[in-house]
Amino acid sequence: MYDVVIVGGGPSGATAAEDLARSGHSVALLDRDGRIKPCGGAIPPRLIADFDLPDEQLVAKISTARMISPTGRHVDIPIENGFVGMVDREHFDEFLRVRAASAGAKRVTGTYLRIDRAGDAPAVIYRDKASGEERRLETRLIIGADGARSNVARDEVPGGDKIPYVIAYHEIIEAPQATGAYDPARCDVIYDGAISPDFYGWVFPHGKSASVGMGSMVKGVDLKQATAALRVSSGLADCPTIRREGAPIPLKPLDCWDNGRDVVLAGDAAGVVAPSSGEGIYYAMVGGRVAATAAVACLASGRVKDLRLARQLFMREHKTVFRVLASMQNAYYKSDERRERFVSLCHDIDVQRLTFEAYMNKKLVKARPMAHLRIGLKNLAHLTRLVPAAYT
Ligand SMILES: Cc1cc2nc3c(=O)[nH]c(=O)nc-3n(C[C@H](O)[C@H](O)[C@H](O)COP(=O)(O)OP(=O)(O)OC[C@H]3O[C@@H](n4cnc5c(N)ncnc54)[C@H](O)[C@@H]3O)c2cc1C
Repeated sequence: MYDVVIVGGGPSGATAAEDLARSGHSVALLDRDGRIKPCGGAIPPRLIADFDLPDEQLVAKISTARMISPTGRHVDIPIENGFVGMVDREHFDEFLRVRAASAGAKRVTGTYLRIDRAGDAPAVIYRDKASGEERRLETRLIIGADGARSNVARDEVPGGDKIPYVIAYHEIIEAPQATGAYDPARCDVIYDGAISPDFYGWVFPHGKSASVGMGSMVKGVDLKQATAALRVSSGLADCPTIRREGAPIPLKPLDCWDNGRDVVLAGDAAGVVAPSSGEGIYYAMVGGRVAATAAVACLASGRVKDLRLARQLFMREHKTVFRVLASMQNAYYKSDERRERFVSLCHDIDVQRLTFEAYMNKKLVKARPMAHLRIGLKNLAHLTRLVPAAYT
């Protein structure tokens, strides 16, 4: 009988497993294994600090973000006081799982099938990868960290099967030599309706390789064709392709992350990805941590309502940033005219500092009211079309 069984060994599940094992709980980490998570791999310094990530996990350190508009104008934003890290999910996820196992979590390789409640305690039923047999893990609590389109969320939590998604697609290519067009220390973010009518495209360097992709919620958008067009416009059409893959990115956190009984969700399974950027790795790890905290509280008190702590702790810290990012997406991802205006806004030094501060350290800076006022006025001028789209 485990204290907690965690379904899914991505960043959220592995973090929850490590935290629970370190706090002396018996924990099993079930992962089906065998597929590299499709992901751009960009992580902020706050993740590196909070989750003690060693430097060797970083395959690139990014010092500039280039925002590109529909008409091809661009603005290069220098990343001050640090860098954006790039991880390779093939090695990063396994590193986190190994670290959780070293802390005492039991790794189990197989596919989650269902939760069985016929006995006194719930049991996670899974298909063992090596033998192909159905097996059970009896437990007091379960953390569902099985990613977007989570089976645990669908089976256990109201609304868990109705989270809206962007479908993201990318190609991992062999990185070219550094040229004017490609810089291994620069991330390009492409706001162009021809690439994505409602999200964005990207070129993210990963050392020897690079991720080139885009996302969209709009049915009928040909993701492969859009990525091919992006590779042509970025001068990357001739680079050999290593992998082609796609996956959903959830767009909205669920209103409730637990089943009021014995299950709590974490990460993509709970719909937790930052609006507008699609950033999910850091938030998944925070989600794993708060799910572990909630599980520990519930195990100690015997009160199932302590499972709600997971969402409460998360929202206390990140609700405002999520709200600002959602309004930004609603305002600027609608049309090429708005995207042009968004890139114009990115020229503003206050916008650059405040948005990057929010990305890097996950805090909205309150200490500079004049900067907020200036940004507010510029925003208003663009949204009311008082200034031309290309006005900086
Ligand atoms: C194309 C793309 C690009 C992205 N780029 C970025 C980026 O640059 N930066 C960023 O921060 N975020 C990015 N994201 C989002 C980020 O990848 C996710 O938010 C993050 O991986 C969520 O972590 P997780 O642990 O919740 O879920 P996942 O990483 O999806 O992990 C879920 C785990 O559960 C396992 N699992 C699933 N079902 C079962 C089952 N039935 N039985 C057993 N195990 C199961 C899977 O094997 C997997 O290991 C991107 C996403 C996509 C799709």
